[in-house]
Amino acid sequence: MNRVSVIGGGFSGLSAACFMAKQGNEVTLFEKNESLGGRARIFSEQGFMFDMGPSWYWMPDIFENFFKQFGQKPGDYYKLVQLDPGFQVIYGKDDVLQIPARLDDIYEVFENIEKGSADKLKQFLAEGAFKYKVGMQHLVYKPSFSWLEFAKKEVITGAVKLHMFQSVSDYVRKFFKDERLVMLMEFPVLFLGAMAQQIPALYSLMNYAALSLGTWYPMGGMTEIPKAMEDLAASYGVRFITGCEINKINIGAKKTISISSSKGDYRTDGVIATGDYHHTEQHLLEEQYRNYDEAYWDKRTLAPSCLIFYIGVNKKLKKLIHHNLFFDAPFDKHAKDIYENPQWPDNPLFYACCPSKTDKDVAPVGMENLFLLVPVAPGLEDNDILRDKYYEIQMKRLELFCGEEIKNHVVYKKSYCINDFVKDYHAYKGNAYGLANTLRQTAVLKPTLRNKKIKNLFYAGQLTVPGPGVPPALISGQVAAGQLLNYLNAKQ
Ligand SMILES: Cc1cc2nc3c(=O)[nH]c(=O)nc-3n(C[C@H](O)[C@H](O)[C@H](O)COP(=O)(O)OP(=O)(O)OC[C@H]3O[C@@H](n4cnc5c(N)ncnc54)[C@H](O)[C@@H]3O)c2cc1C
Repeated sequence: MNRVSVIGGGFSGLSAACFMAKQGNEVTLFEKNESLGGRARIFSEQGFMFDMGPSWYWMPDIFENFFKQFGQKPGDYYKLVQLDPGFQVIYGKDDVLQIPARLDDIYEVFENIEKGSADKLKQFLAEGAFKYKVGMQHLVYKPSFSWLEFAKKEVITGAVKLHMFQSVSDYVRKFFKDERLVMLMEFPVLFLGAMAQQIPALYSLMNYAALSLGTWYPMGGMTEIPKAMEDLAASYGVRFITGCEINKINIGAKKTISISSSKGDYRTDGVIATGDYHHTEQHLLEEQYRNYDEAYWDKRTLAPSCLIFYIGVNKKLKKLIHHNLFFDAPFDKHAKDIYENPQWPDNPLFYACCPSKTDKDVAPVGMENLFLLVPVAPGLEDNDILRDKYYEIQMKRLELFCGEEIKNHVVYKKSYCINDFVKDYHAYKGNAYGLANTLRQTAVLKPTLRNKKIKNLFYAGQLTVPGPGVPPALISGQVAAGQLLNYLNAKQ
């Protein structure tokens, strides 16, 4: 039995631990925080239960695929409901677009805004479906050590249809003219961490995910997913050590590895490090064993960080639904403040999540659980004065849209921003979502999953392949585990 150490208890670490343990390895997972889930942890206060990070459950097939490999399904662990409407986009007080769950209803919504756009959307989604299929079957589950891994008939013959060398922005504009539709179709790639002008149109597969596959919610909150993975891992004997910071990955004379932690030293036959990649390399490894130096990291395009408010409101808010996108400000200007000229935005777009609309258990009776999020550039100055300023801006716009007083009904409020990401996760420059999926940071061009000098050390998570987001984190853990298993099997 090989002894395997997984550093980090987020989605990628939990995924890696499950796959390593299933193959009979003795797996220990070390997590610096007191609870598992990483960016998807929760906290409870005054009867409110707040999901701290992810709130959009997209690509349900990836979760199914994960559990299927252990003879299980998500429904064995949590109850998934499809949201209808999936989300709403607020362009102005009385200018709101709700996206229904059924595709036929979405076509109708489009047609009402721009004549002929329903047919265009059908074509757009058919192309998205092709990209999604090729992406999931032939691109994202690869370790991305060499371009040859992608030399599959479907990828080569379909290369033109994958639109790798066209931007999402140009691509969307070929289909739609109305600015509201353009914003709607450009929004999903904001998760990928760059302006739509910089993201390859391959990622319009995200629109297919958002509109065709639907927006879902696990009752009990997003925390149900890591909880399910923890149970699954435990059933294969994974040992969890929480509140345990790994301080050093020691490489011995014959390149044996041991790890030093706040709770002692552990000898190990293989490591999958899923904490922030930059932190792992620059702080846990001696210089001669690092893949990259500080200058390399400084040149990477990071996905955004964000300012979050977790809020409890002592009344129901009629006009909000579960997911609300406040696009009542210029999209381009905010995107430039994140990516081109990093600064706090004058007039930000923001996102309001109100899970108590779906789940009565996340707020006391008659109250709302609110999560407000403004994406901001990583590495900015972060202090209470700035946070308060953006709280006021968002509250004002929220009250304007809802047409009622909210601020005076806030009974719980907590903010979370760049400094917290650094403190809680060692996040490089306080990033929230990892590394951007720009063309120059795709697949082989991303920080690699393997340590090039230590054969039994691999990385996983949102700063390596395939990229940011919960589904990619699950995949990343699986791919890294596959590589370490190959190494350990070959050694025997
Ligand atoms: C606010 C927010 C909203 C998001 N919204 C969505 C969404 O709606 N949908 C979606 O799909 N994705 C979303 N994402 C992205 C998604 O949550 C992440 O991409 C994913 O959770 C990353 O998982 P991970 O395992 O790579 O990293 P993490 O979750 O960060 O896990 C890494 C873990 O390693 C631990 N660690 C680090 N260093 C050490 C050390 N030295 N010793 C021990 N442990 C260590 C950290 O504490 C952490 O728990 C969101 C992210 C944020 C922050």
